[in-house]
Amino acid sequence: MALLVMLGSLCLWGSGGGVEVANAQPAPVPTDAGTPTLKPMQSGIAERPILRVTGVLVANTVKQGNVLNVYLNDSSTVGHPTAGATAEFAGRKATFFPKKDGSLLALVPVSVFQKPGAYTLSISGTQGDPLKPVPVSVINAAFKTQNVSVSKSTEGLQPFPGEMEAIQALKERVSPLKFWDEGFISPTPDCQNSPFGVLRLHNGVPTGDYHKGVDLRSPAGRPIRAINGGVVQIAQMFRLHGGTVGLDHGQGVGSIYIHMSRLNVTPGQRVKKGDVLGFVGATGFATGPHLHWGMYVSGLPVNPNQWLPKVPRCN
Ligand SMILES: [Zn+2]
Repeated sequence: MALLVMLGSLCLWGSGGGVEVANAQPAPVPTDAGTPTLKPMQSGIAERPILRVTGVLVANTVKQGNVLNVYLNDSSTVGHPTAGATAEFAGRKATFFPKKDGSLLALVPVSVFQKPGAYTLSISGTQGDPLKPVPVSVINAAFKTQNVSVSKSTEGLQPFPGEMEAIQALKERVSPLKFWDEGFISPTPDCQNSPFGVLRLHNGVPTGDYHKGVDLRSPAGRPIRAINGGVVQIAQMFRLHGGTVGLDHGQGVGSIYIHMSRLNVTPGQRVKKGDVLGFVGATGFATGPHLHWGMYVSGLPVNPNQWLPKVPRCN
């Protein structure tokens, strides 16, 4: 069975900070791994190298907070029932879904808190010969820290009953249909003033948590657009997150947009890439108008910068 492992990388909400996470690069190919070819991925999850190896063992690397893209591409597998095939990494499972070219893709999220080091990825549920575990190295993303000054009233904000549960459900949703393509767009045309993954302090006190998305320095009232096709799973004025829209893009990919002043969609609505979801505001846990947007893959916040062309940093 030919196993193709591609490293790509692709937020839980949080407040603002500046760390850049570059895409992971594949490690040197083991000498006993057959004849690999390295070529660029043709899609917009963009410019990430793809390592194609006929054989079993592939050494690869992924940064904390990024997504490992695992492809199965084998004539003995393609076209055969593969329902239930999963990739498991660090105790978390990701389902394989078919792509148009007949290969199978599983998006495996790696936690910001995953300790750097050597791990294995295992694949189960495929037909034919069992696949050997694949070695994967997690490398340190060197996330910085960021202090956010917040007022007492903001700091004391509590979520509505059911608010956190609704966010959690979006994060974990893995629906079988795919509404996204690989050309993601930025929700607003603005620079980012707080990157994904920064470890947060509030008024100088470590929170133990990190920024689960990207903050865009967007002015109040600016339209916020869907980064890709999807179904509206959340459209609600929450207390902690403020005006919130959550999209299920399908097959384990989700996105969230918070602090909106006004919503423009309703739950259950299908949206296309670029549709206006709502408008920039400063509702909920926010120190001023901006857009916090995040991405989830199969239960974890992941780095949005992996999914779309570079969003410029604010100076
Ligand atoms: Zn934020």
